[in-house]
Amino acid sequence: MLEELKKQVYEANMLLPAYKLITFTWGNVSGIDREKNLFVIKPSGVEYDELKPEDMVVVDLEGNVVEGDYNPSSDTATHLEIYKAFPKVMGVVHTHSSYATSWAQAGRAIPCYGTTHADYFYGEIPCLRCLNADEIKDAYEENTGHLIVNEFNRMNIDPIATPAVLCKNHGVFAWGKDAIEAVHSAVVVEEVAKMAYRTELINKDVKPAPQELQDKHYFRKHGANAYYGQTKK
Ligand code: 13P
Repeated sequence: MLEELKKQVYEANMLLPAYKLITFTWGNVSGIDREKNLFVIKPSGVEYDELKPEDMVVVDLEGNVVEGDYNPSSDTATHLEIYKAFPKVMGVVHTHSSYATSWAQAGRAIPCYGTTHADYFYGEIPCLRCLNADEIKDAYEENTGHLIVNEFNRMNIDPIATPAVLCKNHGVFAWGKDAIEAVHSAVVVEEVAKMAYRTELINKDVKPAPQELQDKHYFRKHGANAYYGQTKK
């Protein structure tokens, strides 16, 4: 079942150690088939060098395991809430990548200090509050998903223009149009987190890049008037 998607999700998961976004098993990637309303996710706690495409677990949008020998990722319910609320999202990733998680632990959004950030994210990468005791005690992972969705709606943030979030005291969730693009977002989050950290070390009074520059870089790569890259001849 969903063999192609399993292969892609497996490959996306293997990109996490390749890009040094994770240590041990500290991350997970999933991808969804929107026609079948099923998603494929990494099994929980299996060492990356032992993982195989057929180990990926198939889950429905009620959170039931439809196929798989292993338990799905412990963060499955968070992925599920993101898929349910953001219909254009086709791949989700979670990491504890070091610089981005440092911002998350500090409870700070990553400001847009330059065009590396603006090329991929429209505005800052938000940092959400920590879950409260009740939210942590029961349905923790589902509540993490609810918080992401509710806060994006409340702050009127387009999840396609801002395809990542920091969860305070926890780490990164990022997404994209498939599992590979979700990992791409997570790689960029880590790079801009590292750059923003150093930027503030070099100049503690630094301000975000001018809005005009942020707009130029974001919109030359995204939206109706994008002109970055190649067009087919
Ligand atoms: P899983 O192996 O269950 O996906 O957990 C990884 C992780 O990072 C938990 O936050």
